[in-house]
Amino acid sequence: MTMLLFREVAEAFEKIEATSGRLDMTGLLAGIFAKCTPAEVEQLILLAQGVVAPPFAGIEIGMGERFVIRAIASSTGYDEKNVNAAYKEKGDLGLVAQELLGKKKQSSLVKTELTLKKVFGAFSRIAGTSGTGSQELKIKLLAELLNSATESEGKYLVRMPIGKLRLGVGEPTIIDALSVCRSGTKELREPLERAFSLCSDLGYIGRLFFESPEKIDKFKITLFKPVRPALAERLGSAAEIIEKIGPCGADAKYDGLRLQVHKKGKKVEIFSRKLERIANMFPEIVGATQALKQGELIFEGEALAHDIHNDRYLSFQQTMQRKRKHGVAEMAGSRPLRLFVFDLLYADGKDIGALPFAERREFVEKIFGKPGGQCVGKKEVSTLTATLFKKFDTARELEGFFNKCIASGLEGIIAKELGAAYQPGKRKFAWIKLKRSYGEMADSIDAVVVGYYLGKGSRAEFEFGGLLCAVYNEQTDTLQTIARVGSGFSEDEMGSLREMLDAISIQEKPKGLECKLDADVWVAPKLVVTLVADEITISPMHTCCKEGGRGFALRFPRMAAIREDKGIKEITTSQEIESMFNLQKRTKI
Ligand code: ATP
Repeated sequence: MTMLLFREVAEAFEKIEATSGRLDMTGLLAGIFAKCTPAEVEQLILLAQGVVAPPFAGIEIGMGERFVIRAIASSTGYDEKNVNAAYKEKGDLGLVAQELLGKKKQSSLVKTELTLKKVFGAFSRIAGTSGTGSQELKIKLLAELLNSATESEGKYLVRMPIGKLRLGVGEPTIIDALSVCRSGTKELREPLERAFSLCSDLGYIGRLFFESPEKIDKFKITLFKPVRPALAERLGSAAEIIEKIGPCGADAKYDGLRLQVHKKGKKVEIFSRKLERIANMFPEIVGATQALKQGELIFEGEALAHDIHNDRYLSFQQTMQRKRKHGVAEMAGSRPLRLFVFDLLYADGKDIGALPFAERREFVEKIFGKPGGQCVGKKEVSTLTATLFKKFDTARELEGFFNKCIASGLEGIIAKELGAAYQPGKRKFAWIKLKRSYGEMADSIDAVVVGYYLGKGSRAEFEFGGLLCAVYNEQTDTLQTIARVGSGFSEDEMGSLREMLDAISIQEKPKGLECKLDADVWVAPKLVVTLVADEITISPMHTCCKEGGRGFALRFPRMAAIREDKGIKEITTSQEIESMFNLQKRTKI
């Protein structure tokens, strides 16, 4: 097989950029995958998402715009002022590079055709370079690529390091394309999805699949590659839960930070809900994990900060300060974290995740001990401890447990089907959350901000009038709007929201967003917020699960929190909104 030229990749990207239909995108991607070797398919999957490593590796291509401008200037012969002026006019550095490469003032002495391998190699070097002189090296590496680039190649080469590739291809589309490429249909989607859920590394899965589909069928959990977290469905009452899954187990639901801990001997890694590596922020959990006698483990729990002086547990918001503030060591002293362990996925070479929950729970208790009688557990609780858990036969008993949890300040309960295996990356009825209610709505939702409005009246000084928010439709792989949110922010929050959003503002509506409204300022869909509302209604203005021109919307939406622990892949789906709407209808009757 000859090496895949980057020109062919750019041609495919051009076509993908011009289409919005998922089916067409899948076909186009499958077409270019068909020309790849296993190593190339891995590189292409990563580059199509604008990265050179899976998100959990914490490696970003990241170059500041002014350095990219210098690279464009150096390879086209225009000075930086010209490049800046063109950027002001076009608002997209990729388009600037495309235009200026077309009317270059200087042509390069040696011009070789770019291959995918070469581009990937250069971006990997750019990503891996740090320290003094690193910016100059990054500019040089990008300029070298641009020297050999066609206009269209230049557009994508420039968009990648500034995080603005915006092809709009999500993971589901890539998985479909892999399947279509090898079988002509989506029939291989399920095993691919399963393997991806077990390691969160789609490029790696693409490579194994191209080496041999058998490797995908036999794929197992791997230490230090994060498993995609199992998610909980919602129901409105203890009676509905027992009706749905019969006698079950139930855990207290702690409102903290979800952590997934991997251990091999003294080596410990901790992954966040977004699957970022965050072990350095939690030295006390790392220490307690190292001290466990088991050699190899993967377990999950919810971490809460414990305020030693007042002997109380802090809220999610306060616990989150640990992520933002410096002084991790100091915080670990005065507000140490307790991890309430609720599941075990792997132990000493064995895939425990495949076992029924009742058996996994036995392992959890064997390793982490049974929790005390009270819901949260007080002073005597050690750093790693099992969640409060009980088995229930009747709705009455389950409801009693729920009420007790609420009375002791917890968020609610998570009911668990005793016979179910762990469901990586899936929202299934194997776990069902029952929470304190939010007005008529069964739950809060997590949405991504896609734009904002400028302020009027007393808000004019912040130039901030509210957020346009969207949820994710997993069937169409698109974002759909659900609310225009104008309240729930303090003055401080308005100022900082404005700053955060301006840093990710874009010229046009985000690719892959279905939207009938205009925002004053569009932003790249990155910032996740938790919203509460009075209820879910139907509105002609929003596109969530749209049907006959009407979609779901939130009535009186308020922002409850900025969710830095969540990324766009963790937001509420349109399908969940639909089931919450149905739940709401049922409880109203
Ligand atoms: P989701 O994780 O379902 O997307 P979310 O992050 O908004 O939603 P909730 O909807 O409040 O959180 O509830 C699910 C979350 O509850 C889990 O992801 C986990 O972080 C947390 N949790 C707390 N206690 C438990 C427990 N005992 N078992 C499982 N999850 C728990």
